[in-house]
Amino acid sequence: MKFNTKDTYFSDLLSERGKPLVIAGPCSAESEAQVMQTAEALQQQHVHLFRAGIWKPRSRPNSFEGIGLEGLQWLGRVKRELGLRVTTEVANTRHVEEALKQGIDVLWIGARTTVNPFAVQEIADALQGAKVPVMVKNPVNPDLALWIGSIERIYNSGITDVAAIHRGFSSYQKTKYRNAPVWQIPIELKAQYQGLPVIVDPSHIAGNRDLIFPVSQKALDLGYDGVMIETHPTPEFALSDAEQQVTPARLAEILSNLQVRKTNY
Ligand code: PEP
Ligand code: MN
Repeated sequence: MKFNTKDTYFSDLLSERGKPLVIAGPCSAESEAQVMQTAEALQQQHVHLFRAGIWKPRSRPNSFEGIGLEGLQWLGRVKRELGLRVTTEVANTRHVEEALKQGIDVLWIGARTTVNPFAVQEIADALQGAKVPVMVKNPVNPDLALWIGSIERIYNSGITDVAAIHRGFSSYQKTKYRNAPVWQIPIELKAQYQGLPVIVDPSHIAGNRDLIFPVSQKALDLGYDGVMIETHPTPEFALSDAEQQVTPARLAEILSNLQVRKTNY
């Protein structure tokens, strides 16, 4: 399959300021103040899209599972008052409907949803007729067919503006990563689907702040089109993924040190 690479949201963004596409913001929207404070700091930087999870699919119960609907209003405020485009995760039909109603600019499908064809198909059906770009994270397990299948379900619903996000794969083995990357898989995906933008999520790959830079650089060296980096004003107090989030100041440092290759593979 060939993706239409002309006049899509992602192609416009990618050519707007050159590479890479930068997505940043907290793992979770926690309070209106935290969302606004983060967004104000990121507005000063080359951030194309502000991310914040409203509905959080956590592995274990009794973890913070997101602020819910109220958080969508805060993203609406970021958009209106700061002019930043905003994105959040959707995991079911209701999420899609609410996010579209609020005018969320871009949606993403998380790793725990991509594994489930029924869930992805329901989301795809709810997206019929919508004009919203959608980013699809890899499933938690290294199954390229499952990832491709989810992307195809979204694409077949009429959403031609799709991007893939590599967030690493979970493993029973202990490694230095929280979710070890398999760099070859997204490259194969990109080879099969010409024009599909591939973004790296170094935060969920690394699981800790110290590896965000090297993981991002490795991805850019391989020709990835963008980065999604979790950013929080006080990461150590974050309600989810505290070890891997960086401050806006640290994000600025990371972005300014990243070397972008002009050549594509
Ligand atoms: C997230 O982006 O905060 C998230 C839950 O990611 P993933 O689906 O990759 O685990
Ligand atoms: Mn997270």
